[in-house]
Amino acid sequence: MRAQLQTSSPSGVLRTTNDIASMTLDEITSLMQTLGEKPFRAKQIFGWLHNKMSPSWDEMTDLSKQLRDKLRRFPVSSAPSVVNTSASHNQKPETHQFHNTSKYLFAMADDNIIESVYMGYNYGGSVCVSSQVGCRMGCAFCASGLNGFERNLTAGEMCGQVYGIKKLRDDVSRVVVMGGGEPLDNFDNVVRFYRILTHEAGLNISGRHVTVSTCGMAPRIYDLSALKLQLTLAISLHAPDDETRLKLMPIAKAYPVNQLISAAKHYGDATKRRVTIEYAMIGDVNDSEAQAFALAKLLKGGLFHVNLIPINPVKEKAFKPSPRERVDRFAAKLNGMGMETTVRRSLGGDINAACGQLRNTRLSITDKAQVIT
Ligand code: SAH
Repeated sequence: MRAQLQTSSPSGVLRTTNDIASMTLDEITSLMQTLGEKPFRAKQIFGWLHNKMSPSWDEMTDLSKQLRDKLRRFPVSSAPSVVNTSASHNQKPETHQFHNTSKYLFAMADDNIIESVYMGYNYGGSVCVSSQVGCRMGCAFCASGLNGFERNLTAGEMCGQVYGIKKLRDDVSRVVVMGGGEPLDNFDNVVRFYRILTHEAGLNISGRHVTVSTCGMAPRIYDLSALKLQLTLAISLHAPDDETRLKLMPIAKAYPVNQLISAAKHYGDATKRRVTIEYAMIGDVNDSEAQAFALAKLLKGGLFHVNLIPINPVKEKAFKPSPRERVDRFAAKLNGMGMETTVRRSLGGDINAACGQLRNTRLSITDKAQVIT
């Protein structure tokens, strides 16, 4: 069965790109060879793009004018520009974990709008990036796909979100691919993004500090396992059984829960990394003690960590968050059954920073976010 599900080449070879801002250092090195240039030029270019975060050939003054003119023939993903910033005001004193949350709306060169979020923790800043413009997964509780799917983002555009925020906040040590879109539906570009982001000649973010969250594209999880990257895989499970999951996530039809969990266990075995199970707590849908029991049973024997998140209400959707006591009871049941579990407070609910809400607000031109400069 698994062999059938493996759809893409797990060899680590990515489809080629001619966008220099999306190339890994190895690819720029090959390009330099093709252009008859010295290989060390590649490191200079990569450093300008991904360490100094400057996509402008004019600024690359340590390259000859002749080389810069040759390079101008190649496309470079333009850096997305920040069009709106707003800060969260719902910091609760009892949640010592978070300092603040800020959301950023970026405009792309083609005028598409995407969103990214900065979350300041005690241990450092984390940036949540979008991987696609829109989404085609159609999860019932999520705002990301409300306006349909537009296109994949390039690796350069994903880097551009991190760099845009880093230039404003500096303190960025973690990256989560949990914004708009389904990262494993844009597999090559996300892998490229990871390789660029974690390269020592770039921002040198630790691979272990990069999280990729998927709604459950099981074949792609096998592909990712084969690459043996250090990233943390998060699976948006949200239900322990197919019946409930099907009500929430259309992907459950293609990949039933058992297949998905087998893929997740395989990822854990192949990489020795603990897989995060994301579980958005929805009142009277997936928050019963029986479901907690079923979840603990399902995950037994695997390398998992469960993250419970009270769902963020989306005005276009009818789901309500589970009451706090119910979340705590669910967590206690899981912990009692030996499942490592944390409860995450939903971040940025007051600024629509949760999953596609921000972009949608902007698209419907009712953005009341407080603009800070
Ligand atoms: N497509 C990927 C990543 C983007 S969504 C995925 O499904 O994992 C990031 C996370 O936010 C997912 O766990 C998703 O299920 C969750 N999410 C989406 N809408 C939400 C909402 N209204 N409240 C809480 N979590 C939500």
